[in-house]
Amino acid sequence: MGLNKDSYTDMQREVQSFHDKHDFKNTGGEELTYRIALMAEELGEISACVSKGKSKQQLAEECADLYILLIGTAIAADFDLKQAFWDKMEKLHKRESKMINGRIRVSEFRD
Ligand SMILES: [Mg+2]
Repeated sequence: MGLNKDSYTDMQREVQSFHDKHDFKNTGGEELTYRIALMAEELGEISACVSKGKSKQQLAEECADLYILLIGTAIAADFDLKQAFWDKMEKLHKRESKMINGRIRVSEFRD
């Protein structure tokens, strides 16, 4: 069976095998507080790409770092990120948008 690069399942398998390779489960690599810190670090790198005018390729690489961490966090916390994505998109599609300070915001706007 070849790798289907369009498949979320195959992405998840790839991240799982990365976790297995370094035994993340037994070495702290799946501790959620640690993973949140790593994700915040990657978000900072994404921010730096934009604020320092780095290339689209560098931005894509930092976004991939965050995406890989997100998939791994779903593995660590044992939830189905693909299902969570589709459930959330369904909610988002039902939400209203508002212009706030010149930018669009899609939210629940309870006030
Ligand atoms: Mg990075």
